[in-house]
Amino acid sequence: MRILIVEDDQDLNRQLAAAFEEAGYVVDKAFDGEEGHFLGDTEPYDAIVLDIGLPEMDGITVLENWRREGRATPVLILTARDRWNDKVSGIDAGADDYVTKPFHIEEVLARVRALIRRSAGHATSLIECGGLQLDTRTSKVTLDGNPVKLTSHELRLLAYLMHHQERVISRTELTEHLYDQDFDRDSNTIEVFIGRLRKKLDGRYIETVRGLGYRLISGGRDETGEAAS
Ligand code: CA
Repeated sequence: MRILIVEDDQDLNRQLAAAFEEAGYVVDKAFDGEEGHFLGDTEPYDAIVLDIGLPEMDGITVLENWRREGRATPVLILTARDRWNDKVSGIDAGADDYVTKPFHIEEVLARVRALIRRSAGHATSLIECGGLQLDTRTSKVTLDGNPVKLTSHELRLLAYLMHHQERVISRTELTEHLYDQDFDRDSNTIEVFIGRLRKKLDGRYIETVRGLGYRLISGGRDETGEAAS
């Protein structure tokens, strides 16, 4: 999952970014409203953490612009404690949730997790696909009840596929959601990771849809990606 943090307080921005990276997210950072608006408008994030008090363009305006331009990305706003009206204007401008400063970073992480899974249509933090389970709170994966050991990159890939299961996802989409803006993207890398991940899942679950991309499916499939009869 890839997120954007728009926060002009450099320390706070870096603390948030470090916490999200630690939790397995890919993070882009913006330190003023204009930069934040531009990134949110041009990059496909799974969620955005947006401070309201920002230089160049305030958070409410940034959010209003995104929504007017049709960007539906889940947005969590950060508001100052003594400015209750920011919550009202933020939610009216299209925010999905808010956290009041000062906050515990764990709360921001939990709210963003919830926004991401709800926007993908999952009501609880345990996401299932056949015998495959992902606990989004702990990032633990099990297959038929047995723990599956994944690298952080494989986990990120699987988490994206599990949030969007039964849908064909192109290599471009995967690349955009697994790497930050500075990464030198090579779509062949995705194939390599898909291959490794498929092996760890007993050759089942990840279907290759020729020319289109990949699909995580709950029924058993063999190694070639063809449907098992
Ligand atoms: Ca601020």
